Amino acid sequence: MSERDVFRLLLGAWFVLSAIVFVVLRFIAAPYGRHARPGWGPTLPARLGWMLMEAPSPLLILGCLLRFGGTPGAWALGSLWLVHYANRAALQPLRAPAGARPIPVLVCAMAVGFNLVNGWLNGRSLTGLGPAYAPAWWTTPTVWLGLLLWAAGWGVNLHADAVLRRLRLQGGGYRVPEGGLYRFVSCPNYFGEILEWVGFAVAAGSPAAWSFAVWTFANLAPRAVTHHRWYVATFPGYPAGRRALVPWLW
Ligand code: NDP
Repeated sequence: MSERDVFRLLLGAWFVLSAIVFVVLRFIAAPYGRHARPGWGPTLPARLGWMLMEAPSPLLILGCLLRFGGTPGAWALGSLWLVHYANRAALQPLRAPAGARPIPVLVCAMAVGFNLVNGWLNGRSLTGLGPAYAPAWWTTPTVWLGLLLWAAGWGVNLHADAVLRRLRLQGGGYRVPEGGLYRFVSCPNYFGEILEWVGFAVAAGSPAAWSFAVWTFANLAPRAVTHHRWYVATFPGYPAGRRALVPWLW
């Protein structure tokens, strides 16, 4: 079986698995953060856990670009990935409050597995097994639309995470976040993250990139619903018009 055959088979299975994960997460909240609970085995400190979980995919993207070479378009897309993960795998864990809740080893292991497959699929998609990203790629309007969506999503995600970080640093446990897109939804960080990877997929125009967008939705949409219910149950007077994930809609 050639590498291309493995790539195609894995990609198909990957889409199927994302649908299964979406259904499972509608019933079982991933046991970390405020939804941590006993019975999920040993844990790791949050900082170490986040670094371990998030490092594999940017390393694989960079490794593929260096090993197999990429056009300027592929490098540009890979750079978006690296910029995002420099924050997620390094800055965010380093800035996490010292007392952040530990993460179950099981959750870390599943995230590492996810990021290995995701990093390899997208790394190889950018470097020979996906679109060619020839020089004319830059001139396509959908590419610029995708880049715009990516940037907007990244900005929303960074801002929303910064609001939560400030609340955490004030101490006193969980509070109702305010400002920015928190006026409309309980989880703008998840909304921004989904928008970011949808934008990346629009720009990249590859099934591998769409698989990541679909997986991000499958992971974060159920968690946004669970967070939202938790906010409503925990804080009497929680803003009634605030939705879970998508302003005015959901
Ligand atoms: P959360 O919103 O659950 O928590 C983010 C941080 O803020 C945690 O430190 C949390 O503390 C703290 N926090 C959350 N709500 C409050 C509050 N109301 N008051 C005070 N502190 C609060 O996000 P996640 O931890 O699930 O995710 C972190 C980032 O990683 C997000 O940007 C998300 O988009 C991204 N991510 C991406 C995934 C993907 O599939 N692409 C998958 C998972 C995450 P505590 O941990 O104690 O609850």
